[in-house]
Amino acid sequence: MRISLFTFLSLLSFSLFSQDFNETLEGVRLAEAKSALQQIFHRANLNTGNYDLKYHRLELDIDPSVSFITGDVTSYFEAKSNMSEVTFDLASNMMVSQVMQRGNSLTFTQNGDDELIITLPTIQSAGVLDSLTISYSGNPVSSGLGSFVQETHNGDPIIWTLSEPYGAKAWWPCKQDLIDKIDSVDVFLTTPRFNLSNEAYIAVSNGLEQSQVINATEKTTHFKHRYPIPAYLIAISATNYEVYSHEVPNDGSPFEIINYVYPESLVNAQASTPVTVDIMNLFIDLFESYPFENEKYGHAQFGFGGGMEHTTVSFMGSYNRNLIAHELAHQWFGNKITCGSWKDIWLNEGFATYLSGLVFENLDGNDTFRLWKQQRNNSITAFSGGAVYLTDADTTNVSRIFNGRLSYNKGAMVLHMLRKKLGDVNFFQALKTYLSTPEHAFDYAKTEDFISIVEASSGEDLTAFFDDWLYNQGFPIYTLTWNQPSIGEISIELSQMQSHPSVSFFEAPVPIRLIGTSGETLDLILDHTTNQQNFFETVGFIVQDVLFDPESDLISANNQIILGVEEFEFDNDIVVYPNPSKDIVNIKVPNTITIESIEIFNTLGQLVQKQNFSNRISIENMASGMLFFRISTNKGVVHRSVLKN
Ligand SMILES: [Zn+2]
Repeated sequence: MRISLFTFLSLLSFSLFSQDFNETLEGVRLAEAKSALQQIFHRANLNTGNYDLKYHRLELDIDPSVSFITGDVTSYFEAKSNMSEVTFDLASNMMVSQVMQRGNSLTFTQNGDDELIITLPTIQSAGVLDSLTISYSGNPVSSGLGSFVQETHNGDPIIWTLSEPYGAKAWWPCKQDLIDKIDSVDVFLTTPRFNLSNEAYIAVSNGLEQSQVINATEKTTHFKHRYPIPAYLIAISATNYEVYSHEVPNDGSPFEIINYVYPESLVNAQASTPVTVDIMNLFIDLFESYPFENEKYGHAQFGFGGGMEHTTVSFMGSYNRNLIAHELAHQWFGNKITCGSWKDIWLNEGFATYLSGLVFENLDGNDTFRLWKQQRNNSITAFSGGAVYLTDADTTNVSRIFNGRLSYNKGAMVLHMLRKKLGDVNFFQALKTYLSTPEHAFDYAKTEDFISIVEASSGEDLTAFFDDWLYNQGFPIYTLTWNQPSIGEISIELSQMQSHPSVSFFEAPVPIRLIGTSGETLDLILDHTTNQQNFFETVGFIVQDVLFDPESDLISANNQIILGVEEFEFDNDIVVYPNPSKDIVNIKVPNTITIESIEIFNTLGQLVQKQNFSNRISIENMASGMLFFRISTNKGVVHRSVLKN
């Protein structure tokens, strides 16, 4: 498993720094898959389940030139049941020297299951909040893919972490539980001065920097974060960063986007990061305020390709715009609301991917957005199966969880199709509602939570939509047959096959574009609900061509457009009268022609009546409005429209 995964990651790394949409996506996915790796193999530690974490203060000493950490971690925790001991996750090679509570030293043990078990002096009753401080040190074990990394860039030392929910225990005592967000944290990072001219390292962590205290030999930087955060989104780094910032006006409550970059990358970064403000403004406009606007946003460069969305400070391997957009999007979708299980990973990754698409739409325009959607669809339809939502078995496979085709691309296009189905106003309102729902904001959500919020917000039953596109597999393959019996109308028959047997029919609004002989265009949306569905549409020009899904709004592939050859020489000799009519319609045909059937469709394309071998039909009981007649004869088919009054 580990060997094959490593091979898989190595293959991806070849394309890491390309600007191409898909390859950039690989860069994102690579880092995120890496961060998840240890999560997959983790067994939730039931021994940490008897308390609710409220607060951590991390006081850490690191020297970027030495792979070692010394720390005091103070934790506030509320007992869920009466407790006589408290357990934290901490790698067994990290040496705990003491545990203190109100001036008293507590007894503790460490074991080979990476547990630190502390005996409490008295029973801590259910509902009671208490705290203690753990002092420890050690050289965090490298997993080979890195959770605490000491290395150099351009000859200069750096320490960085890639926040891993179940790798955090490698470098600090914590509770590695995805569903117990820590209400707030303070991080104090102490680093040595690194040369004789007394230059000091720049330290980075989550939240707002409060202070830098410098003495003769070292510097302590204090960061404060006052939003709920899971352990895997806490990160630190320190090196000889250059620091510069951009201000986000934020309607009169400005906050900073702070960039921590390597000196050797400064020129490139300064050219690349200003767009972060435009992307921030776009997301604020489309959704809501930046969730952490009372603190900051930022980027910190680190030694890994791609990015990782640590809350308030994404760690970045490079500064391409798509990566900036993707990691910023996670601050809402992933950090403010975290996916409730790995089966729901699209709530993080599909959303972040779609938001990076919205950046193409809004900053570059429709042509680029169309290309972006085409590339998503090409990726999705390269294989016939695959669902967005994971099975239980899928969640043990890191390459499936972070599958670019399904969790990222198909998740993103399902959101886009939801937008097309609901319309822009209802779609963006539903996402705003989702982000601000109290049970989920700064907490967790599952797919069924998202669906019920969207249904309540839009007033639509979306069961069939999400069954088809999210829970089941594959995509439709369309055949569209059209003909224009006369100027003024077009007749269309739409059918589909499915690429995968899990879906019997994909209900979808199907966009088409009619192109006239003089370059006229008319966009239509066909509400496709059944096979061999007929549509009769009004068009004021001679149609030369029909384009299927011209803006790539629909997940589909291998579609066929057929110009029906239904006109025949007697077409003009067939007369339907009277028109308008309120009861009887007669069809007059030449002697050589026999009527085989008359089918009448309403404006929704629904068949309302069919009659065989007759030239007279009653429309008396039909609703008023336009009716479309499909008249099949022994010489061919003609279409006529009749106004029922
Ligand atoms: Zn992501």
